[in-house]
Amino acid sequence: MRPDVLNPLFAETETLDGVGPKLKKPLGRLGLTRIRDLDYHLPERFVTRRAVGNIDEAGEGEQIVVKLTVTEHRASRSPRAPYRVLAQDAIGNILALTYFGRASYTAKKQLPVSETRWVAGRLERFGDMLQIVHPDHVLEEGGESLQRLCEPVYRLSEGLTQPKVAGLVEQALERTPELPEWIDASQLDKEEWPAWRDALVLAHKGENKAARDRLAYDELLANSLALMLVRADNRKRRGQALQGDGSYRGRLELSFPLTGAQKRSIAEIEGDMAQEAPMLRLLQGDVGAGKTVVALEAMLIAVEAGAQAALLAPTEILARQHYESLRRMAEPTGAHVALLTGRDKGRAREATLMGLLDGSVDIVVGTHAIFQDKVAYRNLAMVVIDEQHRFGVGQRLMLASKGKRAPHVLAMTATPIPRTLTLAQYGELDVSKLDELPPGRQAIDTVVMGQDKIGPLVDRLTAQIAEGRQAYWVCPMVRELDRPEEIAAAEARYSALKERFGKDVVLVHGQLAPEIKDAAMERFASGDAKLLVATTVIEVGVDVPNATLMVIEQAERFGLAQLHQLRGRVGRGSEKSFCVLLHGENLSETAQERLKLMRQTQDGFLLAEEDLRLRGGGELLGTRQSGDTPFTVASLDQITQLLPKAYDDARLLMERDGGLEGKRGEAARVLLYLFERDYGVRTLRGG
Ligand code: ADP
Ligand code: MG
Repeated sequence: MRPDVLNPLFAETETLDGVGPKLKKPLGRLGLTRIRDLDYHLPERFVTRRAVGNIDEAGEGEQIVVKLTVTEHRASRSPRAPYRVLAQDAIGNILALTYFGRASYTAKKQLPVSETRWVAGRLERFGDMLQIVHPDHVLEEGGESLQRLCEPVYRLSEGLTQPKVAGLVEQALERTPELPEWIDASQLDKEEWPAWRDALVLAHKGENKAARDRLAYDELLANSLALMLVRADNRKRRGQALQGDGSYRGRLELSFPLTGAQKRSIAEIEGDMAQEAPMLRLLQGDVGAGKTVVALEAMLIAVEAGAQAALLAPTEILARQHYESLRRMAEPTGAHVALLTGRDKGRAREATLMGLLDGSVDIVVGTHAIFQDKVAYRNLAMVVIDEQHRFGVGQRLMLASKGKRAPHVLAMTATPIPRTLTLAQYGELDVSKLDELPPGRQAIDTVVMGQDKIGPLVDRLTAQIAEGRQAYWVCPMVRELDRPEEIAAAEARYSALKERFGKDVVLVHGQLAPEIKDAAMERFASGDAKLLVATTVIEVGVDVPNATLMVIEQAERFGLAQLHQLRGRVGRGSEKSFCVLLHGENLSETAQERLKLMRQTQDGFLLAEEDLRLRGGGELLGTRQSGDTPFTVASLDQITQLLPKAYDDARLLMERDGGLEGKRGEAARVLLYLFERDYGVRTLRGG
């Protein structure tokens, strides 16, 4: 049960003044459903803004407040292009206020033609025009008050404004109680960190490293503790010792010999599975290293021992791909492979469920649907989780409760995660590494060039397609995943390419309905569509060997690890493959260095380590790579710096007070609930 002190923090945002059903939606899109979420919705940055009489007094890139008269609204022919409002300053300079997506509704309301408004935002140049994109504020009067030192800038979603969010955060903080201290007093002293509640207040007020670090440390400590509790619990539980006799594996008809790394990994897994203690092992291998066949061998061991195995994929489309290839590979062995996803309905689904219950299905592949309550197994003893980083430890625990006894778990990831992050995500986990690519893989030629070379590039693409090849085209990442600007950019590029390639192009981004997204992916996977235009949502693990060209726009905005992942989508067949990294003007030195590194190496681990190092300089972009870490508060920098300490601290706490009973232990329980790592606490009760 959640400690009572936390109740006000877990109250819904709807309990705040001014939050009704209308605001609930945009808040929800940012994951802000409770008071605690608002507390932790920390400013992305702070702006200091200057009032100017006219825009000649301002520099490009400067944050300003200026009084403007609205002259014209310009909707463009294409609904995908931005909506522009033209306005005039005191001396007749024209500038554009630019809105993407549905933000244009706000513009229409706030900026009637021939009215005067105070507008605050960042002055930018766009072609030969000056503009402010999505102004922070538009006021009828009282604009002088917008000239400010240190105004927090929050991440927004459609339907929210900066003042609205700031007001809600203020209310949330007022309702936030002080909590018992879970950090050791001597450490607080040494680091000069504020108490928890003070840290929150300070972090919303201005740049404050001590406050931000303390809040990040809390999250890292909670995560470390939860992992240790789960791990300790796992060690106590009993699984099934599974001994295979080789009968199924012996009938496999692979068209290639296994690499040394694959053989080694399989042996390690076999050793673990023969033990009664449940396996918890991570199989780490770069894209294309051949993890699937390792997983298959592991699952066949379970089948040989008379048990069932399951493979969990992060998305529907990946589940289907895995199912197809595993079924094909397993065919000669006689093992029965079935597919189960949320979308399978009716009789086929019933048949699969029956097969799992009576044991006639040996291996099931699917999305998290395979672990829903209604799904019962005869004897599930082995679980493979693909692209593990998308799942939390909580889900793993949920799986573990499915079998009569704890199943063996093999997590597979292609993300080359630096050691610090492995520790963060998995705790102390056994690791098998596929550090050797299958022989005969062709290196991917990586080319770096300016965005202005897009013309010749499209000609090249045309030739590729004429030869029957396929290609990916990844659009710029704006900052957070799938902001309106990002979608707009992808849609604009899609329209442009469509003019040239017609039906051969498909578009995929995160705001599309799943059916539409899947249909587009399927057309591409089947070779019917030749060119896939996407935001960064291209599924990890999608395997289209006929795709030989990867174009990434504004590559300088991506993390190296992410570029590497994307590049790994090509070079999977026998044809020579290319990766083209397009960049904008005025590349920073770090950006140049990073892109050069991409050209020089195809070693994912090296790239990941270097990425972490190069980003140390505090580049804004990519400090938080969504989806790559299980953290929402701690940045990559903070993880690198603070995680080892948090981990040691958690260990000490466990050793001294494994049941979390003492005063600090009680506080640590509060911490676990605060960060919803309470599945860790639950292990204490069961144990
Ligand atoms: P990933 O590790 O990215 O999941 P896959 O398991 O999808 O990689 O394997 C990529 C490709 O390499 C597949 O087409 C697979 O059949 C092939 N492959 C796997 N192991 C070997 C090997 N030892 N020799 C040659 N090809 C292999
Ligand atoms: Mg794979």
